[in-house]
Amino acid sequence: MVHVGIGYDVHALVVGRKLILGGVEISHSKGLEGHSDADVLMHAVCDALLGAIGEVDIGHFFPNTDPRWKGAPSRVFLEEAARKIQQLQGRIVNVDATLIAQQPKLFPHIPAMKANLAAALAVTARQVGIKATTNEGLGFAGREEGIAAMAVAAVDLP
Ligand SMILES: [Zn+2]
Repeated sequence: MVHVGIGYDVHALVVGRKLILGGVEISHSKGLEGHSDADVLMHAVCDALLGAIGEVDIGHFFPNTDPRWKGAPSRVFLEEAARKIQQLQGRIVNVDATLIAQQPKLFPHIPAMKANLAAALAVTARQVGIKATTNEGLGFAGREEGIAAMAVAAVDLP
């Protein structure tokens, strides 16, 4: 039986932080604020996977008050989500995500992001969809105050 999940995340863009999206460090004047590496794409995908298996969100497993996760690469969270699925004898069918960022241009980085997500989840790049869009200058994303990501996941559970 295929179960689907949805994930959504936002982080504020601030000066003095690295911009890491899908495990790729992207050259930009600002980066995302957060306790971990603030990889908004990986967080949204993680929540989609956890949602598909009826679990609570990523923040529950990796609280931002825990010093262990300070600056942690978000790949760790994805690996944990994949492990939980494996424990249930489940199989990731696919994940698909959209990044919403006015700046910088993300298209050139998408193949590397896909490769990173596929590696963290032990799936093929074909099972990982990543798109990027601007917010047409509207709202917090359009004003470059933050970057948002939404994701869905399908998981085959016995
Ligand atoms: Zn997050």
